Formats: sequence, structure tokens, C-alpha cells
Amino acid sequence: MPGTELFGDEEKREIQDVLDTGILFRYNHEVERKNIWKARTFEKEFADYHNVNYCHFCSSGTAADIISLASCGIGAGDEVIVPPYTFIAPIESVFTVGAVPVFAEIDETLCLSPEGIKGAITPGTKAVLLVQMFGSMAHMNEIVKVCNDNNLILIEDAAPALGATYYGKPVGTFGNIGCFSFDFFKIITAGEGGAVITNDQKIYDIAHMYSDHGHDHIGNNRGAEQHPILGLNFRNSELHAAVGLAQFRKLDYIIEKQRANKKILQEAFEQFPGISFRDIPDENGDSATFFTFFLPDEAIAKKASEELNKEGVGNAYWYVNNFHYLRNWEHLKDLKSAYKLPLRTYGKIPDYNNINLPVTDSIMKRLLMIQIMVNWTENELSELTTKITRALRKVF
Ligand SMILES: *Cc1c(COP(=O)(O)O)cnc(C)c1O
Repeated sequence: MPGTELFGDEEKREIQDVLDTGILFRYNHEVERKNIWKARTFEKEFADYHNVNYCHFCSSGTAADIISLASCGIGAGDEVIVPPYTFIAPIESVFTVGAVPVFAEIDETLCLSPEGIKGAITPGTKAVLLVQMFGSMAHMNEIVKVCNDNNLILIEDAAPALGATYYGKPVGTFGNIGCFSFDFFKIITAGEGGAVITNDQKIYDIAHMYSDHGHDHIGNNRGAEQHPILGLNFRNSELHAAVGLAQFRKLDYIIEKQRANKKILQEAFEQFPGISFRDIPDENGDSATFFTFFLPDEAIAKKASEELNKEGVGNAYWYVNNFHYLRNWEHLKDLKSAYKLPLRTYGKIPDYNNINLPVTDSIMKRLLMIQIMVNWTENELSELTTKITRALRKVF
């Protein structure tokens, strides 16, 4: 959890600015706030970093997904192609706007594959909600082409890959709109928070209005504002923006450290010819948040995970735990929610109990992952590589 590893004086100073004025709301109060605009400043710096025209800071990454779908006009009955390997928020978001998540195959990038997307397109498909998984990226040129050729909206959820680039272009900037999360488990944190970025003014205008009950944010006095559309409240506070701003300014440092630490881990793993590595379409653009590797088969992957655990090396075997892979999402299979999902009224409901994704399954069975920390000392890293080597010698 790199951002949380670096929580310090910079965050406290930014928060103190806000506490000094007492204006925790991101809009209005021009006089009292004494020119302290944390959300606005975050948006400006985040947009500049990504070389895009617009950024809107919001309450969470899940909110960012919902805002993106809404701003692109995705709604009742529209099919949205989604990955089966992801944090579940994007899929919940598709349900929330009344649309239908349609699962497609991933490839060894661990993201949706161009062929997988092509194979899932129907006359009802409106959009692809691509997730840039764990620090790296999908085959973007090919995916952008598939979307263009088929007239599909591309929403890029880059929450797990902030700071990654594909041949110099930041992830999150390839589609109509990009989403990010700054929850406590992401590369930088605002405590809670999210953002959307886009070059499309129409999409941006809907995004900020939709996030604040449809207020148009024109004029100085919120009372004078109009509300051209219905929306919800996905606003975030100046306190969260303050933390996010301090954290965002540490991103370059975090990525540099992660890349250096990843290189050292890579050497340890390369001793074992049975191990192969994730397909990273642009190695130079990997944000190196995680170290991801494949074992030859399911049995060996299971054994490797166990041996690493015995050595105290934390690792994720997503195939068996129920966080990030469709196979273990019992609540999704039975469409359990708090209320009757709009989909039940408007759409034909796919049989989520019988989704057949053999390519994804064969990838997930063999996949293990280790989180890369920023603050590892040289000693800790060398101890870690010793433990990894000892564990894997018992496997091969
Ligand atoms: C973390 C994450 C989210 C959700 O972010 P929250 O801020 O926790 O709501 C959405 N999409 C992806 C891919 C994520 O990894």
C-alpha cells in the first residue's frame, strides 16, 4: 500500500490549510475560504499530469465508474463489456445504471483482450469498461481499434494502474473517459476518493453536474445555480482532496521506488525456468505496483502459494479467494442486491451462473501476485528474495 506507507507532514500541512479556513465544502464560500481550493487544485494537477483537458474529483472509484457510465449516456438495457478479473466495483456500477454487464475473456496482460472484446459484441453492446489491472495495461492500440471499428464507447477504469503509461501515454486517457480510485488500498490515497478524466467537454459537464444533484456550478452562489439534469451526490470534501493532493505529489517517487524494487524481485524469480511473467505491453510503462507471475499449472501454483505463505511471503492466489475473480462471486451469480435491480425490469438477464471463459480460467489458475512496497529497506528486500528462493526451491 504505497501511498499509506508515505503518509506524513505533507498531508498534514494540506489538511491544516483547510482546517484553518473551516470551509470543508469544495464549492462556493469565496471569501471565507481565502483562496484555498483543494479539490480544484487536485483536478488541475491531475489533469495536467495526464495531459487531458478535464478532471473531476469525486467521492470514490466506484462513484467514478458510475459517473463515467452516466456521463457517456449508458443506461437501461445497454450491454457493457466487462472483465471477469477485476475488483467488482465496475460491475456493480453497470448494474446500478440499469445496464447489463457482459463478461469477456482476458489475456496474459490480465486485462480484457482485443479478441475477447470482439467475441462479446452484440447489437446491444454500447460500451467497453476496461480495467487496467494491477499496475500495468491492456493491448491498447488493438482495443482502441476494436472500439472504433464497432462504434463502442471506451471507459477505462485505471484505478489499479495510476501512473502506468503505454508508449508514453498515461493509462486512463485512451477512451472517452478514465476512472481512478484513491481509497486506502490504492497507489495513492485520499482516505476515500476518486476521479474521472476526459478531453470531452460534454462528458465533463455531465460528470460534474451528475456528481452534485445536477447543479451546473455556474456563478458564485450555489443558490443561483441551475440544475439541468437529475443527479446524485458523489461529491468529496476539501479534507479528502487535501490528502489526495499531498499524496499525488509523491506519485513519481512511489513509482520510481516500486520499479527499482520490482527489478530486484525479478532477478530472484528468473532463477526458476518454470516461472513465466505477465505480458506487459510496454515494460517501460509498468507502474510496478505488483509482481505478477505464472506457474506451469494449477497444482504447482497452489503449492507455490503455500510454500510462500509458510515463509511469510504474502501472496495473492486470486483463483481461490473471492475478491477479484468472477468464479467465486456467489452474490453476482445469484444477482443478490438490496433491491430489485433495474436490469430485472429492463434487460434480458444473462445466466451469470454459467459463464464460460476457458482462456481466463486457464490464466487465473496459474497466477500468483506479490505486492511491492515502497519502504522496503535493502535488508528487507534481500531477506524477502532469500525467502522466495527457499520457498520456490521446494516447488521446482
Ligand atoms: C478500487 C477499485 C475501484 C473502487 O474504488 P473505491 O474508491 O474503493 O470505490 C473501482 N475499480 C477498480 C478497478 C478498483 O480497483
